[in-house]
Amino acid sequence: MTVVVPVIDSTTMQEVRQCILAANRNTPEMRSRHVDDVRFRREMDDLMAEEGVCPRCGARLVPRRGRRGDFLGCSRYPGCRYTHDAIPLMASRESFEAGDPPHV
Ligand SMILES: [Zn+2]
Repeated sequence: MTVVVPVIDSTTMQEVRQCILAANRNTPEMRSRHVDDVRFRREMDDLMAEEGVCPRCGARLVPRRGRRGDFLGCSRYPGCRYTHDAIPLMASRESFEAGDPPHV
């Protein structure tokens, strides 16, 4: 029995290569733009978190305590799992609004 193995000729191979490269466009400029986009989004997330707003769903962020310390978590948890590093001023404002005496 003869097994026929399909062979891709060099022209087809070049076409496939061009398709993959066109789809990826993984150039230094593209990578740099991606890093800038991620940095910008992170900065926007930080600004919203400082205002006590979840950047993912717009709900309020609330101070929470986990195994690795204090953090801000979305009040819609578990529906939204957004978390942010604790912001001390935010945490004290939250407890002040909740009726606790300010920690000043
Ligand atoms: Zn949320």
